[in-house]
Amino acid sequence: MNEITDQYGRTFKTLRVSLLSRCNLGCVYCSLADDKIKNNPVPENLMAVDDLLQLIERIHSAVQLETIRLTGGEPLLYPDLIQVISGLKAIGISEIKLTTNGFLLERMAMAMRLAGMKSINVSLDAMDEDIFFLMSKRNDVQRILQGIETAVAAGLEVKINTVLMKGINDSQLVPLLEYAFEKRITIRFLEIMAMGHLHQQSGKYLFTQQEILDVIQARYEFSRLERSNSSTSNYWQTKQGNLFGIIANESEPFCHDCNRLRLDSHGNIYGCLSNNHPISLNGVNNIQFREKLLEALLQKQSVRFTGSELSMLNIGG
Ligand code: SAM
Repeated sequence: MNEITDQYGRTFKTLRVSLLSRCNLGCVYCSLADDKIKNNPVPENLMAVDDLLQLIERIHSAVQLETIRLTGGEPLLYPDLIQVISGLKAIGISEIKLTTNGFLLERMAMAMRLAGMKSINVSLDAMDEDIFFLMSKRNDVQRILQGIETAVAAGLEVKINTVLMKGINDSQLVPLLEYAFEKRITIRFLEIMAMGHLHQQSGKYLFTQQEILDVIQARYEFSRLERSNSSTSNYWQTKQGNLFGIIANESEPFCHDCNRLRLDSHGNIYGCLSNNHPISLNGVNNIQFREKLLEALLQKQSVRFTGSELSMLNIGG
């Protein structure tokens, strides 16, 4: 079968599956500012697990996926998460990963590992409890740290993801870095993306890759590592051997070799975060299926992310 590819030679090898749009945190860059609709409490009509797995298997046979990342919303709120992980393993996906806020991780980590999960990213935007509340509208940093440490003990490879917002949590860069270094966990700092309700005003919160490096440089000596293909993150290693990364969506865009496809909890795909147009895979025959995947591939930007009114909550981070 012909490979589905675009004029830049890009293909789909990584599928990000948003299992649901609901979340148990209300992060300021992700949730709507309005308290009443924060956290998306409206019950969703989610696809049945078997239908979801069948759809993923169909995508896999069309593009030979290498990695699947489960996300949301908050994927640990998805009632059949373990069934999804073992189903993906049975389909033959070699790398099964997940992104979580870590709130339910302590109780879920071992079951996830046993079902076939390899690695997880845990989002954590502050060590200080008040700043964590400012960012996420919840308390209990300790609970997330406990989740991270339980996941490491269960044999999961863990990375920490921190979105930095100038004037809100940039003071947390060093405390988070020190925690990660102490635990020998790789931490990545994310430049804020112009998405959702911050679509038109993310610029004022942007804490750039260079600003991040300047802060770290005042404390550590480090050198840059070579970027691997299709990686979202740039990486550096300190003289002591600790790794940190920066996802510099604004300062150093990485669209040129993006291999990601997104699937939401309603059977819609998106080829690019910059594109708000969902492409439904529901009820399409095999010829249309390939056409829809190609249509999604053609949504990709050639150079940089151009912003989106959709929040990551819906499209999956
Ligand atoms: N609930 C899970 C979590 O908190 O990791 C998974 C979903 S969350 C949408 C996935 C990732 O997207 C998180 O690391 C979050 O920090 C990031 N994210 C969401 N909106 C963002 C934005 N506007 N800019 C940068 N990163 C964002």
